[in-house]
This record gives sequence, C-alpha cells and structure tokens, in this order.
Amino acid sequence: MQRTELKDVGEFGLIERLKKNINLQNKSSIKGIGDDCAVIDNGTDFYTIISTDMLVEKIHFDLSYVPLRHLGYKAIAVNVSDIAAMNGTPEQITVGLAISNRFSIEAIEEIYAGMKIACDNYKVDLVGGDTTSSTSGLIISISVIGKVQKNKITYRNTAKPNDVICVTGDLGAAYMGLHVLEREKQVYQSNPEMQPELVGFDYLLQRQLKPEARMDFIHELNEKNIIPTAMIDISDGLASELFHICTQSGVGALIMEENLPIDQLTYQTAIDFHIDPLTCMMNGGEDYELLFTFNPNHYEKIRKYIDIIAIGKILEDKSIIQLQSKAGTIVPIKAQGWKHF
Ligand code: ADP
Ligand code: MG
Repeated sequence: MQRTELKDVGEFGLIERLKKNINLQNKSSIKGIGDDCAVIDNGTDFYTIISTDMLVEKIHFDLSYVPLRHLGYKAIAVNVSDIAAMNGTPEQITVGLAISNRFSIEAIEEIYAGMKIACDNYKVDLVGGDTTSSTSGLIISISVIGKVQKNKITYRNTAKPNDVICVTGDLGAAYMGLHVLEREKQVYQSNPEMQPELVGFDYLLQRQLKPEARMDFIHELNEKNIIPTAMIDISDGLASELFHICTQSGVGALIMEENLPIDQLTYQTAIDFHIDPLTCMMNGGEDYELLFTFNPNHYEKIRKYIDIIAIGKILEDKSIIQLQSKAGTIVPIKAQGWKHF
C-alpha cells in the first residue's frame, strides 16, 4: 500500500481526500464537509448548523502560561465563531474532555468556570459531552449547534465577481500575543528569578488568551437586515481564509495592503520582534474576526449603517489571488494552512 505523509498534503489536502468517499444520504443534510458548519434542514424556516473544534495541549495551548479559566472561555468562543461565520446564532454546546491524573478536580472546575462565563455571554446551553482519560495531555473537543434563518445563511462558496471584500475588527494581534507569551516563557525558563514582562501588552494577550466570537456583528447585521454574499471566520489567518472563499466560489481576489486593519500595538510589537506586520495580518491566525463579501451596489448603503472595513475586491479570474502592496506592487497571496504535522 502506498504511504503518503501528512506533511505532504497538509490539513486541507487531507480533508479533501477524506471527503471524496463521503456521500450525503439524507435529504436533510444540506451541506456536508467544506464550510464553517454543516447545515441541516428540519423542515422549518431555520437551518440547524453544527460545527466541531478541538483544542489540544502543546498544539493549541501551553498550560505554562494559559490560565485554565481562559482556556475554557476560548474553547467555547472559537466554536461559536464558526456559527457566526454562517450568519447564525449558537444555542447548544457539548464538551468532550480527555484528561490525565495530572489534573485535579479543581483544575477541571476552573476550565468549566471559564466555559460558563462564555456560555452566559453567548447565550448557549452546555447540554452534555464525554469524559475520558488521556496519556498525552489535555484535549477539549467541543461541538456547537445553532440556527440560522434559511434566507440569511452565508456560505463560503457564494462570493461573486466585483463583490467588496470586508473584515471586522483588526488582524494579527492574537499572533503577536502568542509571541509575547512565548518570549516571556523562554526568559523564565532560562532564569526563574525573572518576572514576566507582560505589562503594556494587555490587548495582544487578551486577543490570544480570551478571543471573542463576533456575535455582536452578526446581531448587528440581523438588526439592519443586511446579508453578506459569503462569509468565513478568520481562524487560520486572512490568506488561508481568503483562499477558501475564492477556491470554493470559483473567483479571484485583490487585497489592498493599505486597507488592512492592524492595531498600533500589534504593529509596534511586530516591528520590535522583527516580524513583518503584513505577515501577522495575513498568516497570523486566531483572530476570530469575520471575512465577508458584499455586492458593491449594496456596499455603499451598508457603509452608512455599520462600521466595516473594505480590504479589496473579488475578481472574475480565479487564477488571480493577489495583494497590492503599499508601494503599488502586486504580489501573489499564498495559502498557509495549518502546519501542525
Ligand atoms: P474551521 O477552520 O472553520 O473550523 P476546518 O478547516 O477545521 O474549519 O474544517 C474545514 C471543513 O472540514 C469543515 O467543514 C469541517 O467540518 C471539515 N472537517 C475537518 N476535519 C474533519 C474530519 N476529520 N472529518 C470530516 N470532516 C472534517
Ligand atoms: Mg471557521
């Protein structure tokens, strides 16, 4: 039997391969693998939407600097973010836990205290889960169930040529937060007498340790009756999410560097760390902001009602996925999936 290495196909390649042999058998399964959530039709005016996201110790978090309460909060927020990406509302959560005897009951309760705060914040009910032992650290796997009005659902594959590309919030801060935490960990490991220098990095640390799903924006869209043509949440970095929208919609894109939103602290910290701020924004990941597209005729109207940032435009030519730099040069955008393997 042929052996293909995971590192050769990557995350997206693996999912594509697994998807090939999966057929949807039930009429109620409207959307399977490929979007932020699976979509199920229960015969009402709403679709049920479902997503699963897993956090693994040493891959997604390092307990030497991640407080357990924040971890619980983040585990819920990143799942709710996938519901937001479909323009939906979360309703229930189930929690799968794999733990070793390294953890006390109090430690697990601390994770749940964070989950409770997030559940209250996003108005979701924790309705079940599964608990098992683990020999290799802590694993939290969460599934979230939500709903979206059928005529308001936003997929990844429905962006159209000339659509305006927008993002919420700012990008790259979570990535720089991670760099700050890693630097202080190394300083501490080389000299435990040293106190971590985290003062002044509050915003970056908050973005890394306690991200928010942009449900506030989804509620705002709903109130104003505005529906994007396509949407995805930014978990792996803008470049990779843009690729998902473009490849699935069969379109290209041009992004303007000068329009990309970055917080001043993210920018300055990146410079201090000798990291290109553009790399933070394009490939940083874990921002959990939303990337979405609008029909240009609606965009001008929408702009009057909600505070959004246009960063580029969808192109008909699907072979072009490019960035126009501040200096005016055009460079191809590279998809950087996740690199855990
Ligand atoms: P997101 O970043 O929005 O959480 P992912 O990149 O994790 O999405 O997943 C992309 C798509 O692939 C989703 O539709 C997800 O349900 C599906 N998927 C991911 N892993 C698996 C798996 N092991 N088996 C089946 N489907 C999967
Ligand atoms: Mg997603």
